[in-house]
Amino acid sequence: MLDSILQAIGNTPVIRINRLGPPGVNLWAKVEAFNPMGSVKDRMALSTIEAAECSGELKPGQTVIEATSGNTGIGLAMVCAVRGYPLVVTMAESFSIERRKILRFLGAKVVLTPAELKGSGMLAKAEELAAAHGWFLVRQFENEANAQAHVRTTAEEILADFSGTSLDYFVTGFGTGGTLKGTSQVLRERSPKTRIVVCEPDNSPLLGSGIPQARKDDGSPDGSHPLFRPHLMQGWSPDFIPRLTEEALAAGRVDEILPIDGNQALQATRDLASKEGIFCGVSGGATLVGALSVARRAPQGANVLCMLPDTGERYLSTPVFEDVPVEMTDEELEISRSTAFARFDAPKTAAMKAPAAKPALLEVDPEAERVARAAIDDTEHPVVLFALEWCEFCWSVRKLFSKLDVPYRSLDLDAVAFQEDGLGGRLRVFLHRDTGATTMPQIYIGGEHLGGATDLFEAVRSGALSERLEALGIAMVTVGEDFEPASLLPGWLHQR
Ligand code: PMP
Repeated sequence: MLDSILQAIGNTPVIRINRLGPPGVNLWAKVEAFNPMGSVKDRMALSTIEAAECSGELKPGQTVIEATSGNTGIGLAMVCAVRGYPLVVTMAESFSIERRKILRFLGAKVVLTPAELKGSGMLAKAEELAAAHGWFLVRQFENEANAQAHVRTTAEEILADFSGTSLDYFVTGFGTGGTLKGTSQVLRERSPKTRIVVCEPDNSPLLGSGIPQARKDDGSPDGSHPLFRPHLMQGWSPDFIPRLTEEALAAGRVDEILPIDGNQALQATRDLASKEGIFCGVSGGATLVGALSVARRAPQGANVLCMLPDTGERYLSTPVFEDVPVEMTDEELEISRSTAFARFDAPKTAAMKAPAAKPALLEVDPEAERVARAAIDDTEHPVVLFALEWCEFCWSVRKLFSKLDVPYRSLDLDAVAFQEDGLGGRLRVFLHRDTGATTMPQIYIGGEHLGGATDLFEAVRSGALSERLEALGIAMVTVGEDFEPASLLPGWLHQR
C-alpha cells in the first residue's frame, strides 16, 4: 500500500522486444508509460518540486509555473495536486489537444503561446509570468533536480535490472536532457562499458551539427539554434540545446549521436503497438529506430536498452493516428456481414431486431399518473423533460435548451430519487401510454406533448418551437440559419 500516488512513480519495467529486433541480439525497452501519469517526466516533476521545497524556494501554497510540451506539465500537475500547489503551464498551441485537456482535468491552468514562437517562446512567457507574479518557475531545462531524478531512480533501476549481465548500449533521445544527463552519469561510473547513444530528429541535427548553443548568463538559451527545424517527435529536441544536455555532452558521456528519420519513427511506434503490444508515443518509436540500428551492428548476445518515454494515448489527435480509421474498413464490414445480426447494410428493422420479445403494455398506476400529470400541467415550469440522467439524447436536449436559454424542468427517471418504489419505471409506463413512444427523452410544453429529441430538433428548425414558447410568454434565443441542433448529439450518433 502506498501513502500517495507519488510513491507509484518509477520502478518501470524493462521489457524484451521480441519480434522487431534482429536475431541474436537482446533488445530491451524501459517502458515509462508505467509511471502514474504515463511518462518519464513524473520522475523529474516530483524531484524538482521536492528540491524546491527543501531549498525553501517553493513556499506552501505558492503557484508553480513551467513551460512544457505536456508530459512535464502533466507530471507536475499530479505532484501539485497531491501537494496543494496551484500550477500554471505555458505551452505552444502546436502540441496535442489531449495534453491541454489532461492538464486542465488535473487542475492546472494552461496558457497557450503562438506556435511560431516555438519552445523558446513558451519559456519566455513562463519567465515573464513568474517574474510578474512571484511564482516558482521549475526551469526543467536547467534544473539539476531533473537530472538527479534519473541519478537516483532511472539509473539505479537499470543497473539493478542488468546486474546479472552486461548492458552494452543505452539508447535515449533528449528533451531537456534530464534522462540523458542523470542516467549517463551513473552508468559511466558503475557500468563503464555501456555505450551511450543519443538520438535526435534527422531534420533537426542540433547535437550532430556541433554548433554550440548561444546562452544567457543564467544558462538558459539565447534564441533558437540555427539548425532547429520543426519535427514530429513531440517531447524531443526543443529549438535549442538545453543546458542539461550540453553538460552530458561536455562530460564526454555521449558515445554516439544518431539522426532519426520521422517516417521510420512513426512506423516503429505503430510496430511497437501491433507487433509487441507496447503502446508508446512517437519519441519512443524514434528511440527504438535508433536502438534497432545499434542492434543490427552489435555483436551477438549484446544487450541494447532503449527508453520509451511515454504512453501513446497522448497522440490520438496527431499524425500517428491519422491513418487509423474511425469508420469500419472493408475488411471489418466483411466480418460484420458474415453473420445476420446487427448489420448496417440490411434494413434496420430486420437487422436490429433484438432477440427478446416486446414487453406487454403495462397498466399505469395512479401514483405515477398523478406525479406525471402534476409535472406536465405545472404552469410554473411549462417546459418539462422526462429524461434519463446519462443518456446522450437527453444531454443534447439539455444542451439545446441551455443554448436557447429556455428554462426547463428535467425529471430524470433513473436518478436515485425516482428509483424508490420503482417510481421511475412506473412513470415510463405512463409515458409510453401517453405518448406512444418508448424512447427517452419525452418533452412536454405548456401541458402538451411535443415529442422526443428528434422532434424537438425539427421544431427548432421549423420555427414551431419558438411559436409554441412565444404563446406561453417564453422568449427564446434566436439561432443562426446554419445552426444544426443535431450537432449537439455525440459524433457517433449524428454521423449516420
Ligand atoms: N519524449 C517525450 C514524449 C518527452 O515528453 C520527453 C521530455 N520532454 C522526452 C522524450 C525527453 O526526456 P528528457 O527531458 O528527460 O530528455
